[in-house]
Amino acid sequence: MREMNLALVLNTLRQHKVISRAEIARLTGLQKATVSSLIKELLAKNYVMELGIDSSSNQVGRPSNKLGLNPDAGCIIGAEIGVDFINVIATDFAANICREHQESTIGLMANQDAILNRATDIIQDFQMAISQQNHPIFGIGLGLPGLVNAHTGTLLFAPNLGWRDVPIGEWMENHFHLPVYVDNEANLAALGETYFGAGQDYDFILYIVSGIGLGGGVVLNGQLMTGSAGFAGEFGHMTVDPTGLRCNCGNSGCWETVASQNAVFRRVREAIAIGTSSSLMEATNGDLTKLTIKMITEAAQNGDQLALRALEDTGFWLGIGIANLINALNPKRVVIGGILSQAEKILLPIIEEVVCQRALQWPCENTDIVIAKYGAQSCVIGGVAAVYRKVLSQPNDWMSQSRNQRS
Ligand SMILES: [Zn+2]
Repeated sequence: MREMNLALVLNTLRQHKVISRAEIARLTGLQKATVSSLIKELLAKNYVMELGIDSSSNQVGRPSNKLGLNPDAGCIIGAEIGVDFINVIATDFAANICREHQESTIGLMANQDAILNRATDIIQDFQMAISQQNHPIFGIGLGLPGLVNAHTGTLLFAPNLGWRDVPIGEWMENHFHLPVYVDNEANLAALGETYFGAGQDYDFILYIVSGIGLGGGVVLNGQLMTGSAGFAGEFGHMTVDPTGLRCNCGNSGCWETVASQNAVFRRVREAIAIGTSSSLMEATNGDLTKLTIKMITEAAQNGDQLALRALEDTGFWLGIGIANLINALNPKRVVIGGILSQAEKILLPIIEEVVCQRALQWPCENTDIVIAKYGAQSCVIGGVAAVYRKVLSQPNDWMSQSRNQRS
């Protein structure tokens, strides 16, 4: 019971950042004396700190002493191995990003050993830098672009890398001697946006990530909906056109084939191939393998009709899928992340228009559609959230472990 209450208090501190004992008691429904006793324990162990009297408060009565999570209590590492990049961040215990590194892996040609070794080297650099500051590391949250068995930490299949059955979580735990939480990148991003981003204060969010592939995650009351075996959220492989293009998953006509980064690039290339003129030929020096979403978005905003059309067509298909998902799930908020969110000014109005036309009136009226707060960092901040979720759900285990690490 005491551990459950401790978890409740820590979660409230995480959500509210600066808060008094009285406010914690009001929000959790715990007795003030219970809250005071739990806070005393957390203060003694340096997980929580006193932030002083809140002089800005206009509240009547005694000014309250504010509390917050102690940033120096330890660090959390969030990492993502994407189809063509590696992204790693470290945060302090108050979830402030204190270190970050991104790099492209295009040159490694999806070579499994080369990419995993590179990711390990980067995380190891982080681990060394953090240990030099004498901070414990609570764990690593790692997002991967495919189907993941989150219980065993095994990547089962990454369609856009061609990898199968890679026990990455187990391997990293043995290497780093830290708890490692592995999940699908979209699931982690959904969790990250819920904990720290555009989904904060929403009890039901649908997260859609459109990058090289297309995926998503559903978070209800702060809990990721994983499905019976952990594979929920593979929205990108919903069939939207039975006679459509071949998808990397082996099926054809998947939503991903018409509403991802690759779909935008294909539309640009096809239009140029039939002779439509575009500033993108000049921007890429005639090499259309060099296309980027940023380049196409800028061209569209500067009046390039071909670029604009490629993004608008992709926005239309994003809208079709999102309308179907709104009908199916009735989320309170839809959060769109991934590289395509860079084109939000063009995509969002079209998505909203299509959703308005296609989704049923009632679920549609009760939802809004926004862009992810963390953008390309949603997954890595989600890795941090996954470690938080674990340590805040079992604070006793974690406190004794982190003490061992420090000693
Ligand atoms: Zn597919």
